[in-house]
Amino acid sequence: MTAPLPDDCDDAQPITPVLPAARRSRQARVVWGDQVVTVGGDAPVRVQSMTNTDTVDVIETAIQVKELAQAGSELVRITVNTPEAAKAVPAIREQLDRMGVAVPLIGDFHYNGHTLLTEYPDCAAALSKYRINPGNVGKGQKRDRQFAQMIEAACRHDKPVRIGVNWGSLDQELLARLMDDNARRAEPWDAKPVMYQALVQSALQSADWAQELGMSPDQIIISCKVSGVQDLITVYQALARRCDYPLHLGLTEAGMGTKGTVASAVALGQLLQQGIGDTIRVSLTPQPGEPRTQEVVVALEILQALGLRNFNPSVTACPGCGRTTSTTFQELAKQIDDHLRAMMPVWKSKYPGVENLKLAVMGCIVNGPGESKHADIGISLPGTGEAPAAPVFIDGQKAMTLRGEGIAQEFHRIVENYIERRFGSATAST
Ligand code: SF4
Repeated sequence: MTAPLPDDCDDAQPITPVLPAARRSRQARVVWGDQVVTVGGDAPVRVQSMTNTDTVDVIETAIQVKELAQAGSELVRITVNTPEAAKAVPAIREQLDRMGVAVPLIGDFHYNGHTLLTEYPDCAAALSKYRINPGNVGKGQKRDRQFAQMIEAACRHDKPVRIGVNWGSLDQELLARLMDDNARRAEPWDAKPVMYQALVQSALQSADWAQELGMSPDQIIISCKVSGVQDLITVYQALARRCDYPLHLGLTEAGMGTKGTVASAVALGQLLQQGIGDTIRVSLTPQPGEPRTQEVVVALEILQALGLRNFNPSVTACPGCGRTTSTTFQELAKQIDDHLRAMMPVWKSKYPGVENLKLAVMGCIVNGPGESKHADIGISLPGTGEAPAAPVFIDGQKAMTLRGEGIAQEFHRIVENYIERRFGSATAST
């Protein structure tokens, strides 16, 4: 028997889709030449990444920036940690421009950013944004002076900044002060809320101060990265309630492989669903042999899974079960997915809108035809005991049945024809 409906449920009302909440941040612009990347407001949630090359190595860094950009990173951050690195930045920029890679570069500064941005103006000019960590700017009076020097450089070169607080390098003077204040409370808070308060205050006080120094609020982006999923959600919810600066999201030190991927997806997914977050980075530790671009791949998948942006055609594939005694459908799903991704750099310009294509590759008759009908093109492969035939569905209708050894090649051809017909230039303008 069906349980009684709660008072706020009424079967006469449609069940409407739950969509990510609207973001309410102001908008910043990160610019290089003609390339303008808007961040915040109604701009798409942007994907960011960071190199792990030695910035002094101009060619190696430029190549990795290019790889990250080609993978889909719209902003790429590089470490600027020494005078040699600062001198290399304009050369990296020039090399990228020569290679036709217009992605804006962000300089990551700690400890000596005030000196590098002041003494190497070509570096300051070649970067499109500066990341300033308020916990690593200096101590005492030096801190104020050095922070001001960085903001003055940003104003002089008309560059936005990200005030990027990190749990691992939190402003210790601020934290100590808040801990002392807390100790004087009649009922002191636990240590964690004080830590949260320190993270949020460090970011927002620094932003206020940057504005007092002459920086426009439209040039300020904020982040407060921590490594725990629940901590990240807590801190960003607090930040979003307290300001309308664009927010850069990332679970810092997310870790390796599955663990880092899942933790990032869970944390960023929850916040983005709440309308919190304007740029994202997935801080994966690459596994041996894994390309740096994996962090970009995961970031794109997070945004696509939430329905916030489409980057690649999606392939729905069932997990397989006791009804699938061969690996045919797994192989076909992988081949199709690999082929679509490999072709996307070309197809993106040739077939506008192809990233919205939905395919299904299914293992048997149980969910195969149904799932295939929901896709633009779907194939239901025969499970154990079924007749050796694979019906293909196009735009919800059964279009043909494939048989024999060449099913994979035939399906590839059907997909390519469909893409040409639906997204090719002849129809793209209609
Ligand atoms: S569609 Fe068929 S093969 Fe795939 S998981 Fe479901 S029952 Fe198993």
